[in-house]
Amino acid sequence: MTLVEMGIPAVRAGLPSLDGRPDTPFLVDRFGRVARDLRVSITEKCSLRCTYCMPEEGLPQIPRAERLTVAEIVRLISLAVRELGVREVRFTGGDPLMRRDLEQIIAGCHERLPDTPLAMTTNGVGLEHRAKGLAEAGLNRVNVSLDTIDRAAFAMLTRRDRRDSVLAGIRAARLAGLAPIKVNAVLMRQTLSGATDLLGWCIAEDCRLRFIEEMPLDAGREWARASMVTAAELLDVLGTRFTLTAIERSDPTSPDETWLVDGGPATVGIIASVTRNFCADCDRTRLTAEGRLRSCLFSDEEFDLRDAMRGGASDDELATIWRASMWQKWAGHGINAADFVPPQRTMGAIGG
Ligand code: SAM
Ligand code: SF4
Repeated sequence: MTLVEMGIPAVRAGLPSLDGRPDTPFLVDRFGRVARDLRVSITEKCSLRCTYCMPEEGLPQIPRAERLTVAEIVRLISLAVRELGVREVRFTGGDPLMRRDLEQIIAGCHERLPDTPLAMTTNGVGLEHRAKGLAEAGLNRVNVSLDTIDRAAFAMLTRRDRRDSVLAGIRAARLAGLAPIKVNAVLMRQTLSGATDLLGWCIAEDCRLRFIEEMPLDAGREWARASMVTAAELLDVLGTRFTLTAIERSDPTSPDETWLVDGGPATVGIIASVTRNFCADCDRTRLTAEGRLRSCLFSDEEFDLRDAMRGGASDDELATIWRASMWQKWAGHGINAADFVPPQRTMGAIGG
């Protein structure tokens, strides 16, 4: 199987132009944005098969030798924080819990960067048994993806009957002190009517729920702008049971809009990535499991750090590649344009 058949784009050869780039160590782009938030995908493997993300058979496996090692991940993250101005690091995938050496990755980063917040986005399957160890290794926060609390609907959407493991994982994370726990739910038509139950459950369990509009990053290529569930539809559904009051955004780079639920203190967030996109304030830079830099979820233009690193590149040389990659970042995703073409990689192969 070729890389293109695997949904992995060709890496761009040579260093892109740095023409016009200001003389700054930070990860700036041509549109005045500065990347401070690093998302690191550490595996393509996953214990679930969410229909809006993965193919039923899972993603083609990345050969072990092509995946970044613990030492390589720790080196690149340290470089991003110390030299490039990254302030927050989030591990994602696939599912980060699929890597048995996740605790070593976290511990390595925490040891070198004790003041940098380390977070993880996970589906929560198996978290019950690892939350305590991860917290001890230095993990600070966890976002757990849970689209519905209805067991049958969960099994249908994820193609796996693992809801109970996720709920146990959320509770274990709270006990381990990984609070505040955020719950992410992708807005899907099959689970929309259960949105009020999910919000009620999250409030009772002291979790902060955020709904996310589905983006065209599914392996089945079934996403359609005309039929996706919008933030506006969700607000109507939630309004049948709760009184929602919009809160003004305090952090412009935060993608979610927040509402107080029944006067507070509970809140609910909505990340309206499609209908109210926040590209103008995007502060993200991404590293894939094979060590490629990807500045935008929707751009297939990737730059390799792994081979450069394995070929003996110095930290300065790696930093130059990273800065150059960010200088090429697109203005926005263009989902709403008539000529929009989804990227080759699906969400599970990028890391959300
Ligand atoms: N497996 C982990 C999980 O599900 O949390 C981490 C990886 S997953 C790709 C990261 C986030 O992307 C999850 O919150 C997931 O719900 C979200 N996601 C996946 N596919 C999506 C899509 N097509 N549109 C919007 N969000 C999506
Ligand atoms: Fe796996 Fe997360 Fe994709 Fe679901 S969203 S299939 S849990 S990577």
